[in-house]
Amino acid sequence: MAQSLDSATRQALTARIRFYRDLGLTEFYRRPVDSALLARLAAQPDEPQPEAAPQIFHSPQAFHMEDQPIPPRKPFPSAPAISDAVPASDRAAALQLIRDEIGDCTRCALHKGRNKIVFGDGSPAARLMFVGEGPGADEDAQGLPFVGKAGQLLNNMISAMGLRREEVYIANVVKCRPPGNRVPEPEEGATCSPFLFRQIDVIRPEVLVALGATAATWLLGARQPLAGLRGRVHSVRGTKLIVTYHPAYLLRDPRQKKEAWADLQIAMKELGLKPPAKG
Ligand code: URA
Repeated sequence: MAQSLDSATRQALTARIRFYRDLGLTEFYRRPVDSALLARLAAQPDEPQPEAAPQIFHSPQAFHMEDQPIPPRKPFPSAPAISDAVPASDRAAALQLIRDEIGDCTRCALHKGRNKIVFGDGSPAARLMFVGEGPGADEDAQGLPFVGKAGQLLNNMISAMGLRREEVYIANVVKCRPPGNRVPEPEEGATCSPFLFRQIDVIRPEVLVALGATAATWLLGARQPLAGLRGRVHSVRGTKLIVTYHPAYLLRDPRQKKEAWADLQIAMKELGLKPPAKG
């Protein structure tokens, strides 16, 4: 009989998987279960068990639950053709047209749980654009990207670069909050990311910064470990792309801020920016 996880276990597993994903480990698999071995284990209760392993891994029902076929990974859809350049004076209107086209979107399942669509925020003439994963609770409530705790850290990162938040543009791979802040499903990313690509095409920033593995994956159209993507300049839609850690990950592991700063310095070099003088 299949057994569902209790909510505490589910949350702990989600947090752990997000942590690994932020480290750039995106490939997970479930080990197939040997039913005969399980039956033998169940028949020999005195057989020594590993001490610290959590209860769910000892229960025959839980083993059975794991014994499910793993669906094949879906290929990433190809990104739409790059649209024509929009003159700087028309960019705000061009972004509004994209927003109007999104409308009161019901194209994917994420609309069911959202409060507000989080389209994007910042200057249509930005030289630098940040791309996150998807709105969290604060963003869903306010309709603006990166306004929660991770947003405060992003604001600090932007100031450290000598820029103001109003000077850059910020958007996400998906525009509606995934339930429980889970990673967007392939269908959700595939449905929503074309709007992000169109925003990029209108703004034509000189540099894009992907915040975390989900943004990097959708921008590059391929799933690769974050560690291998950092520290160099990629090219996406005619724009330079730098990949760094998601601010939410930096809040969980502040030791990595130094690494993120190194990534932002690559972006600054490409933009010809110098960090502001301290004082
Ligand atoms: N995390 C994201 O990826 N995007 C937001 O807008 C907020 C938090």
